[in-house]
Amino acid sequence: MIIIMDHHADDDKIEAVIIRLKKAGFQIHLSRGVERAIIGAIGDKTRLGDIGLEALPGVERVVPILQPYKLASRTFHEEGTVIKIGGLQIGGDAVHVAAGPCAVESREQVLETAEIVKKAGATILRGGAFKPRSSPYSFQGLEEEGLKFLAEARDLTGLLIVTEVMDVRAVPMIADYADILQIGARNMQNFSLLREVAKVDKPVLLKRGPSATVEEWLMAAEYIMSGGNYNVILCERGIKSFENYTRNTLDLTAVPIVKYLSHLPVIVDPSHAIGKWRFVPSMAKAAVAAGADGLLVEVHPNPPEALCDGPQSLTPANFMKMMSELKQVAAAMGRRIL
Ligand code: PEP
Ligand code: MN
Repeated sequence: MIIIMDHHADDDKIEAVIIRLKKAGFQIHLSRGVERAIIGAIGDKTRLGDIGLEALPGVERVVPILQPYKLASRTFHEEGTVIKIGGLQIGGDAVHVAAGPCAVESREQVLETAEIVKKAGATILRGGAFKPRSSPYSFQGLEEEGLKFLAEARDLTGLLIVTEVMDVRAVPMIADYADILQIGARNMQNFSLLREVAKVDKPVLLKRGPSATVEEWLMAAEYIMSGGNYNVILCERGIKSFENYTRNTLDLTAVPIVKYLSHLPVIVDPSHAIGKWRFVPSMAKAAVAAGADGLLVEVHPNPPEALCDGPQSLTPANFMKMMSELKQVAAAMGRRIL
C-alpha cells in the first residue's frame, strides 16, 4: 500500500510514519514527488489495523496497491519516472536511440559504428560482449576485450554504453565498463540475476521475455526495484506468436499498456522483434508514435559480414534515413530526438 502524505507534512512527520511502519515489519520505499511525499510500504496488511496510520499527523490517505507489482506500479509513483544518466534523461521529452551492432566483433567495427550512429543522432551505443546464442557453436562474444572496445568508443564519441549481462558472476566486471546493464529476453526471469543487478548503481534495461505477459515483465522489474535499484528501463522486443514470417511479433500495444500500468520508461527494439532490416524503420516510427521513450536498433557497417544478426541490422545509410524520418514523428508527438 502507499501512504500519501499531505502538502504540509515535514520531514519529522514523514519519519514518524516510517518508524511506525518499520516497527510493524513493513519494508519502506519513500518517493518524494514535486507536490508531496509518498511512502510505499510492503508487508502484511493485516498488521495495519494496530498502527492507526490515518490518525497520524501529516497522513492524508492510505491507498492499497492492488497489483502484485507495487514499486513498478503507477499507483506508487503517479508521474512518469525520468532516469538521469550521464547527462541524458530517459523518460523525458527526448526519445533516445541506442544503436550499434548485435555483437562487438572487433575494435574497428565498434569504433566505426559508434561514429556513424553518433552522427545520425543516437545517444547510446549498444553492442554485446557476452552473447546469448541459441547454438553453443555460434560466436559467443569477445567478453572483457569487447567491453574495453565499447569503453574506448564511449571515450571517443561521448555515447553512453548499454551491454548485456548474462551471468551473476560477470555483473561487477560489466558494471565497471557499462553505463546501462541489459538483461536479455532469455534472462527476464533469471531471478538471481535480477537480484544481483538490483545491487548495482547503474540503470538496468530489462527486456521482455519472448513469452512473458506484461504482468510477468513488471514483476521482473519489481525484483530489481525491491532490491534497491529503481532505475529500470523496460524494453519491448517482440513476443512469440504463430506468425513465422517475422522472427517474433512486435507487441506495440505493450507501450501504452505498460505506460498506463507503470511509471517506468519504455523503449522498443524493433530489430529483434522483426528480424528483417527492411521492416525495422516502419516499426521504429510506429513505436515513437505509440509513446515509446526510446529505441534499441541494430546497425552494422557491413551487415552481410556480421557475426550475429546481420539480416536484421541496418546499414549506416538506412540508419541515417530512419533517424531523419524519426525526427519528424517525434516532433509530431511533441517530443524530440537529441
Ligand atoms: C540483444 O539485444 O542483443 C539480444 C540478444 O536481444 P534479446 O535478449 O531481446 O534477444
Ligand atoms: Mn542481436
